[in-house]
Amino acid sequence: MGDGGSDTGEDPMLDSLICVAGSSIKRSGFIASHSSDERERRVIFVNAGGEELRRQGHSEIEVETDRFFQGGDVLRTDEEVADGGDLPSIYQSARCGNFCYEFRDLPPGDYSVDLHFAEIVYTNGPRGMRVFNVFIQDEKAVSELDVYSIVGANRALQVMNIPVSAGKDGVVSVNFQGVVGSPTVSGICIKQGAPELQLVSSGRDGKSLLCDNCFAPVKLTAAENKAARMSFTAKYEREIRELKAQCQMKQDECYEAWMSLTAANQELEKVRAELDVKFFQNFTLGQAMEKETEKMAKISSKYEHDRRLWVAAIDELERKMKAIKSEHSQLSFEAHQCANSIPGLNQMVTAVQSLGNIRVFCRCRPLNMEEASSRPQTVVEFTDAKDGDLGVLMNGSNKKIYKFDRVYTPKDDQCDVFEDASPVATSVLDGYNVCIFAYGQTGTGKTFTMEGTEQNRGVNYRTLELLFKIAEDRKKTISYDISVSVLEVYNEQVRDLLASSPPAKRLEIKQVSEGVNHVPGVVDMKVENVDEVWNILQTGSNARAVGSNNVNGHSSRSHCMICTVVRAKNLVTGECTRSKLWLVDLAGSERLAKTDVQGERLKEAQSINKSLSALGDVISALATKSSHIPYRNSKLTHLLQDSLGGDSKTLMFVQISPSEHDLGETVSSLNFATRVRGVELGPAKKQSDTTEIQKLKLMLPFCLCQLKCKDDTIRKLEENVQVLEGKTKSKEQFSKSQQDKIIDLENQVELKAELCGHLEKRLSHVYEKMQRKEEACYSFQQKVKELEDRLQEQEQASSINSKAKTRELEDAVKEKSQQFQRHTEMLQKQIKMLEEELEAKQGREYMYISEPTDTFQARKVEAKPLKIEADPFSLRSLNSTSSGTLLNRGEQSILLKGTDSLRALRHKRDLQSKGPENNLFLVTPTAHKKPVSAESEPSKARHLDPSRAFARISRGGKPVGSGSSAFPNRVKESDSSRVKIWLR
Ligand code: ADP
Ligand code: MG
Repeated sequence: MGDGGSDTGEDPMLDSLICVAGSSIKRSGFIASHSSDERERRVIFVNAGGEELRRQGHSEIEVETDRFFQGGDVLRTDEEVADGGDLPSIYQSARCGNFCYEFRDLPPGDYSVDLHFAEIVYTNGPRGMRVFNVFIQDEKAVSELDVYSIVGANRALQVMNIPVSAGKDGVVSVNFQGVVGSPTVSGICIKQGAPELQLVSSGRDGKSLLCDNCFAPVKLTAAENKAARMSFTAKYEREIRELKAQCQMKQDECYEAWMSLTAANQELEKVRAELDVKFFQNFTLGQAMEKETEKMAKISSKYEHDRRLWVAAIDELERKMKAIKSEHSQLSFEAHQCANSIPGLNQMVTAVQSLGNIRVFCRCRPLNMEEASSRPQTVVEFTDAKDGDLGVLMNGSNKKIYKFDRVYTPKDDQCDVFEDASPVATSVLDGYNVCIFAYGQTGTGKTFTMEGTEQNRGVNYRTLELLFKIAEDRKKTISYDISVSVLEVYNEQVRDLLASSPPAKRLEIKQVSEGVNHVPGVVDMKVENVDEVWNILQTGSNARAVGSNNVNGHSSRSHCMICTVVRAKNLVTGECTRSKLWLVDLAGSERLAKTDVQGERLKEAQSINKSLSALGDVISALATKSSHIPYRNSKLTHLLQDSLGGDSKTLMFVQISPSEHDLGETVSSLNFATRVRGVELGPAKKQSDTTEIQKLKLMLPFCLCQLKCKDDTIRKLEENVQVLEGKTKSKEQFSKSQQDKIIDLENQVELKAELCGHLEKRLSHVYEKMQRKEEACYSFQQKVKELEDRLQEQEQASSINSKAKTRELEDAVKEKSQQFQRHTEMLQKQIKMLEEELEAKQGREYMYISEPTDTFQARKVEAKPLKIEADPFSLRSLNSTSSGTLLNRGEQSILLKGTDSLRALRHKRDLQSKGPENNLFLVTPTAHKKPVSAESEPSKARHLDPSRAFARISRGGKPVGSGSSAFPNRVKESDSSRVKIWLR
């Protein structure tokens, strides 16, 4: 055996690798044997993946270059291979990949194969990178060999003495099949002859049981084989148990993995649900944020818009305030000026009043058509008309100057006249009684001045028109109530021109209160506008009595009197006034001497003269401040009583004709007017002063009124300013609150944005967590799948293996029990024969030969009597071998492989044929020794189940070969059935 020492020993890992009995694993390289026998046995030795090697010396080695291979690649290394033995370089090369070796032309017979390995690629491991099986003649010889895990990298490893038989074709095939990675092999050595029997785990000295020269350990082989078989059985059972334990462990692992997967899935579901919730929350938050942002934008834009509006409004207000202030200061300045001028004005007013409120304007009509055609001389001169001077040519060259308040030339029109008359006329609105009348010769233009024509309206219409205009302007502060009545005084009788029917009794003038006269029953028409005034004036004019005389066919012989009563109420002070304005178109003042009238006309003339004289007297009395004013001398003056003198204002138009023909009447009229004016012609200064004072006096009420208006305006403006200031303040407060609100909203938006950021972070965290969970889940699933696959494989493999093994064992037991039965029968027959022979001989020769035979028998029995008898396998093997019914090698059971080799069996057969006497010799004493036991219960023995019997043998606690003395003790101690089994 020499170099064939096995390293397997008790190493279960290595045991499990070897699938063929007799082969072994060695953790070192090839060592050449010194014996020539060993050298001669080497038939082929190839250096896989390498070149031819040769070592000379006392142990000559010859290794061929790599051949007989099919497929694969070559691997080489320069690194030194440890424990490489005599040929370390053989391990520096290898064939690798998908390959096989087929050795041809070998003489039919038994061979043994040595395989040389070294891991030269995966020098840093890890284990399990290269695992493969080796099949020899299609039979697995090495299972799942992992060189690295046994010896590591760059170390030699041998699998030795794998038995193989070459058939007639002379082919020995060695196949390599990778389990993990591709297989490698460094060398293959084919030796002649089957390998020597290797006893497995005997625990005893193998050399004392087997001999290298003589292969005849017959007595021991059966026992050892039995032990080996039991050892194999135990080994496989152990393996099965281990596999079952592994399987259980894997199942547990699978269960745990499944549970953990379920838990992970549940957690994943939870995380998903949480994620959904977070998504929804985030979504709603996003929506809310969008809405808030929209709101904010709206509020901001509204705020911006409002702010601009307010800024503009405030600017406007400030501008207005400035303007108002400047206006106010201007007005105050003016007011101060006015106030300052009031004392002077008062003085002037006093002065004017001392002069009397009578103004006389002289108006000269143009020459009429008739006068113009006869080329008359004009007797009036208007050189200083602007100064109120009127020159009258008396008697051709004598010129007399008349002084009036105004002198109107024929060229002056109605507007010029009214411009000067209007201040007096409109003072009725300020509460003054006013009387304006026209005096003069018939045909000099009295009616023209007072009434005018439709195209060229006179003082009446223009005055009333202006009254309405001013009343309209003042309506906010003063309300006016204006009514008009139109009277006529004819022949010292008062007549109502607006009355539709003649009154029942004469109209009389009555005094209502002191200084106030009234004509009861007179139609007093309230007028609202100038159109109504016009209608009334027309009505009055149409109703006026007209007469004719020699001077002027259309001359009126009556006084036409329009009375306008103004009732005023100051809305601010509540002051009420009632004032009258008389507009009188007097009858013609021509002297009677010139008129040729009689009767009724005379009476008219006298009445006119009377009334005009009375008027002159009253005015004169007023001018001279007479204690008695003769108002009642005529109806005219009586009616005009409250408007002539006192605080009333009087204006007289003295109408003259420019014609030389009318000179006398003109002079008469001018004299009357001068008398009325009450002022003799004096120095120009005085007159001018008077004019200035008159002007100022006229201006004063207007100024007062304006001042009042300005005051009102200022007060209103101040009120407005106050209101605006209040509004501005409230707007400022509103804007402040809006700003606070905006700041609040901005803070809210910031908070929302922060919250969003947090949520996003949390979301990403949850995402990551989920991804990790999913990965873990996926790996768990894969692991479970892997484990399931492996479990299934293992279950399949173990079930197939165990089934096959069980079946094999059953078959073997059955066969053995049958053989055993046959053999027992045969032995019983032989025993019977021998007994018969012995009985025959005993009768004759008992005393002669008994002593030496007994001695011999006793000695032989002492040697190993029970073992042979108790081992039915050895007997079966012998018989089956001799009868040629041995199972072919391919179908040999694993048990057989573990105990017998081909060579051993062949040797046993030879021995059987050479020495049959030995069998007889062995059998005889046994038969002789146990006749009673064997015979005692044959029927029972035959009925026993062989497999159960074998099982019981296998389970036997003690080895059988412990000596004959053990048996009787065992019989006594055990039950009878066990004795029977042992007997068999
Ligand atoms: P009286 O009323 O004094 O009798 P009137 O007014 O009837 O006089 O006038 C007589 C005529 O003279 C009328 O035709 C009138 O148009 C005309 N007349 C009088 N004054 C003027 C004047 N200033 N301008 C133009 N025509 C005048
Ligand atoms: Mg007239």
